[in-house]
Amino acid sequence: MGDRMTREQRHRCMSRIKGRDTKPEMVVRRWLWRQGYRYRLCVKALPGRPDIVMRKWRTVIFVNGCFWHGHECQKHRPVTNAQFWQDKITRNRERDARNQELLRAAGWHVIVVWECQLTPKCRIDTLRELDLTLSRIMLEQTGRRKGYAFREEESGWSQAAEPPSEYGQ
Ligand SMILES: [Zn+2]
Repeated sequence: MGDRMTREQRHRCMSRIKGRDTKPEMVVRRWLWRQGYRYRLCVKALPGRPDIVMRKWRTVIFVNGCFWHGHECQKHRPVTNAQFWQDKITRNRERDARNQELLRAAGWHVIVVWECQLTPKCRIDTLRELDLTLSRIMLEQTGRRKGYAFREEESGWSQAAEPPSEYGQ
């Protein structure tokens, strides 16, 4: 019970931070890297500037903060200045949906990992599920590409520069 309070507080703290190296995203990145997945960060040319891009597998991953992106886990959270935030978050959600639509239309697999799914308690399950999803995507695409030689498609990509924080402080 006491544990629950602490988790909520921690959650709230994390929600305030939105930069490229926020903790939830690092959790995913470090884990992907350890599993042998290779990726690019924040590819600006793509709608919504996905946090993680696996071009070879035509897959992008967004690691979303629950507050900013309006995750359902936030529904009953009391906020001061509620109307202001509600409008802002509604716009964020609409923009997210639009960007994901654009990506899918261009043939990208879109994966969204929520901050609340990365708490120490849920993390392992979430990452296992992510692994499964990625395996499925890779399998599917390997089948489709059968017969043609693999190339390191990502080698020509330059590391994306640090993007400006979308939401400021
Ligand atoms: Zn959430």
